[in-house]
Amino acid sequence: MVKVRFAPSPTGLLHIGNARTALLNWLFARAHGGAYLLRFDDTDRERSRESYVEAARRDLRWLGLAWDEQARQSERLERYVEVADALRRSGRLYPCWETPEELEYKRNRQRARGLPPIYDRASLNLNEEEQAGLAAEGRRPYWRFLLKPGEVAWDDLIRGRVSFRGEHLSDPVVVRADGSFLYLLPSVIDDADLGISHVIRGEDHVTNTAVQLQMIAAIGAEAPRFAHLPLMTDIAGVKVSKRLGTTIALETVRSEGIEPMAINAYLASLGTGEAPRIGESLDEMAANFDIGRYGRAAPKFDPQQLEQLNMRVLHASPFEWVAGRLAAAGLGEADARFWSVVRENLSRLEDVQPWFDVCYGGVPPVHEDADLIRAAIAALPPEPWDDETWQRWTGAIGAATGRRGRALFMPLRQALTGQDHGPELKRLLPLIGRERVLSRLRGEGLSFAQGGASHVAPSGRR
Ligand code: GLU
Repeated sequence: MVKVRFAPSPTGLLHIGNARTALLNWLFARAHGGAYLLRFDDTDRERSRESYVEAARRDLRWLGLAWDEQARQSERLERYVEVADALRRSGRLYPCWETPEELEYKRNRQRARGLPPIYDRASLNLNEEEQAGLAAEGRRPYWRFLLKPGEVAWDDLIRGRVSFRGEHLSDPVVVRADGSFLYLLPSVIDDADLGISHVIRGEDHVTNTAVQLQMIAAIGAEAPRFAHLPLMTDIAGVKVSKRLGTTIALETVRSEGIEPMAINAYLASLGTGEAPRIGESLDEMAANFDIGRYGRAAPKFDPQQLEQLNMRVLHASPFEWVAGRLAAAGLGEADARFWSVVRENLSRLEDVQPWFDVCYGGVPPVHEDADLIRAAIAALPPEPWDDETWQRWTGAIGAATGRRGRALFMPLRQALTGQDHGPELKRLLPLIGRERVLSRLRGEGLSFAQGGASHVAPSGRR
């Protein structure tokens, strides 16, 4: 049974790099008929905020990445304490007493001698008496995980065979002096307890994986498969995770009017060498998903490319993708037929408003040619109307007035829509309907200013 997790730490807003991890996990789960867990790594009480938990849920919902299950590390502390106690008893967690300054001094000395900054395990060699003495000084120990020497290796779904040696790694701190847990051990316990089969995350965690594999063995759990994605960079080559600027927060991208499916299509394609799959739903993307297509090179996130893609995605969006948002914006009358006629004229969803007004509300009409308008009223066919109506109607107007081409079509477009560009009129006409067409041609509400063309303010919705 495949089960994956997306595990943000709620210490900030999700950025576009988080979105990629969230998305690829989701696609992997759906591609394998598996489950998707949303886990909040909120053991850091100082930095975790409830508002970031809510923001992350909002962002994931917006992207369409529904989760099957949720977990919060802050609710599982008892379980971590239980496992940590067992590891203390088996000698895999040991108390350490050095102050940050002492550790810093040791690291500087190692560096000066050209050695890697690996913890020297001085605290491991303290006897009980020495430890009691330190405790009497008012010190409280924090706890490190004792790594074993020897090879730690795994077959990474993206990086292939990865191998470390335990003796080249530093024993990690897992419990702070105040009893709070750092991320490494709780994550291992959760992955084991909650049945995670695949851990798909950024390559900044590769070394953690070596350490965590030893923890997994120490608690007697079965190791999941790992996949480490290269971190995205911006076009200047700066790692996205290092540039948590508001420019790449999902919330910002959303407020800029970027379509969620544009982000999904873009992020799913980055690093595969394939073109984004425009107009595909998440389920369709999942049906084609193969984690093996993601390479080891860091993909570049290019906001301009996203911008262009956004327009193409919007033009290809089926009505279901936008219906909810249109209704929420008060455009509930908009239907699938309307959407299919106007979508190609939009660069942002919000651009739909003027076309909604044309079809369902009022527009500021422009009358440039009174003779033509009179003929148009006289020739207006009765309903029902379809895509052929426009041609029949304008044919009759042309015959009556001798107008052709632009001289025929532009004044009609202006009178009916108040604009001189837009969707094909033959498709727009049946949506506007005879009643509105007639009232616009009659200039109802029009005040005829001296000198020809006249404009009125929108008459508002019915
Ligand atoms: N909370 C960790 C992070 O945001 C999760 C890493 C993981 O997926 O294990 O980096």
